[in-house]
Amino acid sequence: MYPVLADHRSCTGCTSCVSICPLGCIAMNPDKLGFNHPSINQNQCIGCLKCQKACPIVSPPPLPEQQTRIYAAKSLDDNNRFFSSSGGVFYELMKLVFDKGGVVWGAEYDNTFYIRHNFAETAEKAAAFRGAKYAQSDLNGVFQRVKDQLADGKPVLFSGLPCQIAGLLSFLGSRPENLICVDCVCHSVPSPLIWSRYLEYRAKTDGQGYPPVSVNFRSKETGWSRYHYSVQIRFPHKDYSEISTNDPFMKLFTGGCISRDSCSDCQFRGIDRQSDLTMGDCWGIWDFVPEFDDDKGTSLILSHSKLGDELLKELNEQCSFLPILPKAALAKNRAVTQSIRPHIEKAAVCRILLQKNDFAAAAALINSKSLFAKVKRAVLRFCRKDS
Ligand SMILES: Cc1cc2nc3c(=O)[nH]c(=O)nc-3n(C[C@H](O)[C@H](O)[C@H](O)COP(=O)(O)OP(=O)(O)OC[C@H]3O[C@@H](n4cnc5c(N)ncnc54)[C@H](O)[C@@H]3O)c2cc1C
Ligand code: SF4
Ligand code: SF4
Ligand code: SF4
Repeated sequence: MYPVLADHRSCTGCTSCVSICPLGCIAMNPDKLGFNHPSINQNQCIGCLKCQKACPIVSPPPLPEQQTRIYAAKSLDDNNRFFSSSGGVFYELMKLVFDKGGVVWGAEYDNTFYIRHNFAETAEKAAAFRGAKYAQSDLNGVFQRVKDQLADGKPVLFSGLPCQIAGLLSFLGSRPENLICVDCVCHSVPSPLIWSRYLEYRAKTDGQGYPPVSVNFRSKETGWSRYHYSVQIRFPHKDYSEISTNDPFMKLFTGGCISRDSCSDCQFRGIDRQSDLTMGDCWGIWDFVPEFDDDKGTSLILSHSKLGDELLKELNEQCSFLPILPKAALAKNRAVTQSIRPHIEKAAVCRILLQKNDFAAAAALINSKSLFAKVKRAVLRFCRKDS
């Protein structure tokens, strides 16, 4: 029997199918935006269907019975918060796992700023996992290594996007007691190819042709409250720094122009999830508990399991937690539960980027179209009222 895997639109690239195939007859190949998709060598496939059973899209695992608890939270260490995307709770959790002799997996940049998953056994090495990186990370060979580490018996914390957690759990087929899964609130994930093109573009416009020396998508030098963080790319002779809402890569990302197709109908969002803990930005805290907001970043934490609850309890000395209602958590963070809508100009934007690598032109295209769409909507509203 020939296996059925997720189709091109719904495949998240989680690598569960590739990792489980006993004959190694599935390869991951990039599509035109650089997103990896599996392809099966039909001549080698013996039809065991292990890949089909391990695909979280085709064979979705049931959600465990749970009652999710929600908190606003922040690390008490301001230096850690400065280098973290939101409240820095993730870094405190990593340190707790290292104190227990464990291993932590996360996403880091390599020396070309390509994003891949790696593991660390010390807080110094794990510092590279801090900060959100806005392109899909490479998981090649990762799940088997996680499985081997779990078999050694030490605590293993795996952090990643919700679809990556689903992929890992489907690959493992069971829930080892020493595994801690941490996912994030996920707007969507941008193309790794467009990300590398953006670095080339910036090197030309701001770096005098030199490659960057550091990248920070979530710099807090301009603050955090009211989405006021900035994108910072350092070059040997000059720096690029821009408020995220003015940066063309961020505009195209948040506008739904450069993300993976599966993000438009994400199967892994929601209040209840398979992970133990979900972390995000507690956007809107400045409105609903202003005294908790100091402009240094506050995390939104969803605890889905007994293990999640226990870990948060152990972090009580390092972090401050404030229980909040789902309504407050969702008010300014629709990404918890709602999928993005791909932009109407997505295809045109990607063409401009792939053919001309002109991010200013691509961002201008969606700006003008959004203005046009706004005017069109206003005219339609006016006509409806009038009739
Ligand atoms: C692609 C993406 C989209 C996101 N969208 C939203 C959103 O819409 N709303 C929201 O509230 N929060 C979103 N987040 C989460 C948010 O940016 C913070 O990561 C979260 O608030 C945790 O903050 P922190 O300060 O505790 O930890 P941080 O220092 O931010 O810790 C980062 C953690 O995220 C992991 N990580 C970073 N980049 C990637 C990546 N590319 N792939 C997989 N894992 C990665 C690291 O391994 C590490 O575990 C998103 C994160 C990513 C990576
Ligand atoms: S059916 Fe079995 S052999 Fe064929 S690709 Fe899937 S896992 Fe590999
Ligand atoms: S297991 Fe993951 S990578 Fe493989 S087809 Fe399913 S979603 Fe895609
Ligand atoms: S939106 Fe869903 S499918 Fe897209 S990267 Fe996030 S978890 Fe994966």
